[in-house]
Amino acid sequence: MQRLSSKEFKNEFVSAFDGDDSGILTPRQTPGQLYCKAKPTPVAQPALLAWSEDLAKDLGILYPADQQDIDVLGGNYVSESMYPYAACYAGHQFGNWAGQLGDGRAITLGEWEVTDGKVYEFQLKGAGLTPYSRRADGRAVLRSSVREYLMSEAMHYLGIPTTRALSLVSTGEPVLRDMFYNGNAAYEPGAVVLRVAPSFLRFGNFEILNSRKETNNLRKLTEWTITRYYPHIKGENKVLLWFKEVVDRTAKLMVEWMRVGFVHGVMNTDNMSILGLTIDYGPYSFVDDYNPDFTPNTTDLPGKRYAFGKQPSIAFWNLGCLAGAILPLVNEQKDELVAVLESFKTTYWQNYYAMMGKKLGLDQVTEQDIELIKHVEKTLAAIKPDMTIFYQLLIELPLQVEDTQEVVKHFEQSFYQELTEEESNSLFILIKAYLQRLNRNTIKRKDSQDLMRATNPRFILRNYLLHQAIEQLEKGDEKLFNELQSAIRSPYSNKFDMFFAKRPEWASEKAGCSMLSCSS
Ligand code: AMP
Ligand code: MG
Repeated sequence: MQRLSSKEFKNEFVSAFDGDDSGILTPRQTPGQLYCKAKPTPVAQPALLAWSEDLAKDLGILYPADQQDIDVLGGNYVSESMYPYAACYAGHQFGNWAGQLGDGRAITLGEWEVTDGKVYEFQLKGAGLTPYSRRADGRAVLRSSVREYLMSEAMHYLGIPTTRALSLVSTGEPVLRDMFYNGNAAYEPGAVVLRVAPSFLRFGNFEILNSRKETNNLRKLTEWTITRYYPHIKGENKVLLWFKEVVDRTAKLMVEWMRVGFVHGVMNTDNMSILGLTIDYGPYSFVDDYNPDFTPNTTDLPGKRYAFGKQPSIAFWNLGCLAGAILPLVNEQKDELVAVLESFKTTYWQNYYAMMGKKLGLDQVTEQDIELIKHVEKTLAAIKPDMTIFYQLLIELPLQVEDTQEVVKHFEQSFYQELTEEESNSLFILIKAYLQRLNRNTIKRKDSQDLMRATNPRFILRNYLLHQAIEQLEKGDEKLFNELQSAIRSPYSNKFDMFFAKRPEWASEKAGCSMLSCSS
């Protein structure tokens, strides 16, 4: 176990690539550079609000018992071995080319090597201005930092690839935010999250190099990414093979999001991890009432580009941008590149149906079962029950049902409004078809239920819970925040059934509970 402030950090990214070492923070374009040196701007009073014990243990980090360690987490202390930098990237935002973006308020401190040889990037979010801050302040508010801290850890415990969060620190400094971009700016408490991932590289890090026609840098970054993060990929065709793996990982990530009802909210290409991780937690949400057309992001209206059900096709579109960016590296093999991109669909659907089979407790998924899965989706979209509660109730479904009334009663806890006669009938028809299929299962009922329990979360970190926890935390009451920190660690158990409830009526239209803005 080692202390944050005294451990020897590595700096392999900055050693490998050209960057701007000036340390000047003035906003600017940085052609030819993959990063800029950017020291965190100290804050008034860094205080530790949360610490991820499990992650710290895995990484061999001692609890930050003294102020110097807490100062690292707040950006007030940069040790000798750290080289703080902001990475340069570009992106397509809401379908449009946005040019250079870069880490505007994220600063990588260095790379932490664990005894098993694995290396992790340590990055502060909200640590102050960088050359990529554009017109913004480089800071983050407590509200959005709590959301990133809790949700990235929640996704980890759900078993979904994600960046992690080690700590949450309050800064003692107010931050001005216009939460709904409606001219009502107000001060909110500031915070800094230290997040951890093998790499925070995004599709946008590759897009910027292609857009600037820096083919040598592009080749070097691609080779570096493959050697470091995909070391099993070798040989002449390695760029194509690597792209295939990025496609597969991204497709599988989308399947995982669909499994638990996660909506990212801002799937711009600068928010797409090259490692297939969930990254950059902003105006995300779980779906409460099942609705493929639901977007939690007010900035995403009215087009709803990033709605729940559109995420897989947006991921495919984003991979198309990445393919375009790496085209100069495979120029003789454009058709092959397109074929790899197209393979997203097969990978996605194969994994999606396999996942749905598990959600439903099926022993296998045949062509006929795919029809049943579509039937489930159609019925849920029509009835809009609470997705999480519906699947939990499905686990306990009696193997024989008498009539419509019995079925409606069984699922009652999941409904946001009373079902019409037509809706009740369609639910009954679905359940009849499902039970017929269950009767053909070659696995025992108990094994089928175990499979469902392992696939369907019982606790999800709903936005209204986060909203309440943040409100209380801002008043100095940590109770709910602490409870949520525990609950996220056991999402498949019934240990936290005090949270096993639909989104309450008051939260359905309330800002911060159903819809959020990008302002953070
Ligand atoms: P996002 O939508 O959060 O992924 O952010 C898009 C871009 O805006 C990224 O380059 C961010 O670093 C930058 N950005 C967002 N918020 C801030 C902020 N408060 N200060 C500086 N840059 C920001
Ligand atoms: Mg981002």
